[in-house]
Amino acid sequence: MSDAWMTEEREEFRRAVAGFVDREVAPAAKALDEEERFPQELFAKVAKNGWLAVRYPEGAGDGIAFLLLVEELARGSLGLAATVAMQCLMGTDFLHRCGTAEQKKRLFEPALRGEKVGVIAMTEPNAGSDLGAIRTVAASDGDGWRLDGAKTWITNATRADFFTVAAKTDPAAGFDGIDLFLVEKGTPGLSVGKAIPKLGARCSETAELFLDGVRVPGANLFGGKPGGGGKLLKAVLSEIRVMTGALSLGVSRAALESGKAYAAQRNAFGKPIRDFQAIRHKLAEMATGLEAARSLVYRAAGSPGDATLAAMAKLFASETANRIADETTRIFGAYGFAMEYDAQRFFRDARFLLYGGGTSEILRDVIAAAITR
Ligand SMILES: Cc1cc2nc3c(=O)[nH]c(=O)nc-3n(C[C@H](O)[C@H](O)[C@H](O)COP(=O)(O)OP(=O)(O)OC[C@H]3O[C@@H](n4cnc5c(N)ncnc54)[C@H](O)[C@@H]3O)c2cc1C
Repeated sequence: MSDAWMTEEREEFRRAVAGFVDREVAPAAKALDEEERFPQELFAKVAKNGWLAVRYPEGAGDGIAFLLLVEELARGSLGLAATVAMQCLMGTDFLHRCGTAEQKKRLFEPALRGEKVGVIAMTEPNAGSDLGAIRTVAASDGDGWRLDGAKTWITNATRADFFTVAAKTDPAAGFDGIDLFLVEKGTPGLSVGKAIPKLGARCSETAELFLDGVRVPGANLFGGKPGGGGKLLKAVLSEIRVMTGALSLGVSRAALESGKAYAAQRNAFGKPIRDFQAIRHKLAEMATGLEAARSLVYRAAGSPGDATLAAMAKLFASETANRIADETTRIFGAYGFAMEYDAQRFFRDARFLLYGGGTSEILRDVIAAAITR
């Protein structure tokens, strides 16, 4: 039975992205990973196709099509998919929602064409899950703000033209003291560190960011007045979680397909290993987990107000991707341990899905709090 949300237009869009992934992304993914090379050309092609605009009214205005985009891209290269997801969602959303007409014309519109890169900088060396503990401060400075602090794990920071920076306007207030600021590349006092060598999603670049007396005008405080950053972040959190679920589906599909193909061609004891019940049952469990994750992710996407469902979707899809990638490496036997085959890449990439958008431990707390209220 087909899913009601998969309209003809969306299916056509998914097919176009899938074709691009099969022709151009999947064949390049191994080398991009090995060389930890930013997928500049592929990113430019995604932009040229107009796909960076898909979730905004300026494009198709379709949040489900956006999920289909990142799911298909992640099937080819999680690093590319993470780069695109950052640009389409967290890197540009606050500018779109709160930016001035001038900021949007100069930064947001070019970002939809891939001419400018936007990122979000929340995490700090001492604060990830516990965002209320960030130490970057924004102090009122004439008619603007002065920002001081350090960020880490910032996706696309090395490529960024503008940053949405989380900083405390009220350091005593915890999460409610956070505000979001637009900071542009080249602002005196702003510097980006080297890309952090990573276990997975290695062709996306993730780096530290330093703010040392960075001055921005008052118009760069998103929301116009201090005290609204926490609310702005919460408004997009569920979508970030569902999006990470869609990335997980892409990695799961790639791993399952590669496990199935290997099981069909590898022989042991006189027959393809696919004929052993132990291997068949692995494939059955993997396929069932993937279908369940898929249902949950797209159901959560269709229920944007349901934060619990979004947390469940991210938790289940990311944990499932890790199980599927693990089983795939087992099906490959020793070759699952060899860098020559893709199985190890899916296994490494799947780990990334456990952190962004909330760790599994945090998500279980969120879900438990909701169902025991
Ligand atoms: C590849 C990559 C890209 C990233 N990109 C970005 C980005 O672009 N922008 C950005 O701002 N951040 C980014 N991040 C950071 C990411 O959002 C954080 O890693 C995440 O929020 C978790 O924070 P942490 O790593 O500091 O872990 P911590 O919060 O230090 O957690 C460590 C461990 O303690 C557990 N824990 C923490 N609190 C609790 C609790 N209350 N109950 C139970 N267990 C708990 C966690 O689940 C985890 O197991 C990225 C991370 C990675 C790996």
